[in-house]
Amino acid sequence: MPEIPEIETVRVHLEHKVQGQAIEQVIVNREKALNVPVAEFSALTTGRQITTIRRRAKQIIISLGQERSLIVHFMLEGHVRLLYPGEEPAGKPTVMLMLNSGQRLAFFKLNLGYLHLVPTVNLTAMPELAGLGPEPLAADFTLKKFLELLAPRKGMIKPLLLDQAFIAGIGNVYSNEALFCSRIRPERKASHLTAAERQQLYHCIRAILTEAIKFGGVYEEKFASDDNFTGGFEPYLQVAYRTGRPCTVCSHLIETKRVGGRNAFYCPVCQK
Ligand SMILES: [Zn+2]
Repeated sequence: MPEIPEIETVRVHLEHKVQGQAIEQVIVNREKALNVPVAEFSALTTGRQITTIRRRAKQIIISLGQERSLIVHFMLEGHVRLLYPGEEPAGKPTVMLMLNSGQRLAFFKLNLGYLHLVPTVNLTAMPELAGLGPEPLAADFTLKKFLELLAPRKGMIKPLLLDQAFIAGIGNVYSNEALFCSRIRPERKASHLTAAERQQLYHCIRAILTEAIKFGGVYEEKFASDDNFTGGFEPYLQVAYRTGRPCTVCSHLIETKRVGGRNAFYCPVCQK
């Protein structure tokens, strides 16, 4: 599932390529991906200009002016691709927005994911965005705040990092990378982490997400045929999906095991 760096990469692409364009027509091939009937979705989006593209956690908010916004959640398999005139979609999109430039914005595989039309006002009150923890890269997500949030927690640290109500937008890839960076084993109890480890974990979360955004995340799905940026962080992964390959620090082989129902990747030598 895409996490903050992957979604941020999509957001930047959308901002550069489709912000300012107007939606001329919509094609919906799977009504269940929407939260309103197709006719209503079509009536309220057609003719509207795409004004701003924002991100909250793993979701993208495409505002169509002051009144309505689209909230997109890709979940496991969803992705979006911009098609230039003459290009054909690879497979049937869940939803396709025809833009006034002749380009089309095709959303694929929104099976678990969705494209919801909501009022632009009070976005944070929308069920899609309510209940999310702080953005780890926000300016007000300070070390002090992180330590306060962590203090009462007793469970294993890796599942905690995946808890969207604790911190929003981190998933399996970056939780593994942040724990390797801070030299903490994924199954360690949050309550047993030392003061130095807590501080290190905070800095690692922010540093790795920032670096991953800079290199375009690890998503395989390109945004458009001329996209040479998406997925550029993949060679920099230290542990995630590197089982059996040598640790970049100590050369011991990276191991994997189930922690909290998900695959944890770690170096048994570097991480304590
Ligand atoms: Zn190692």
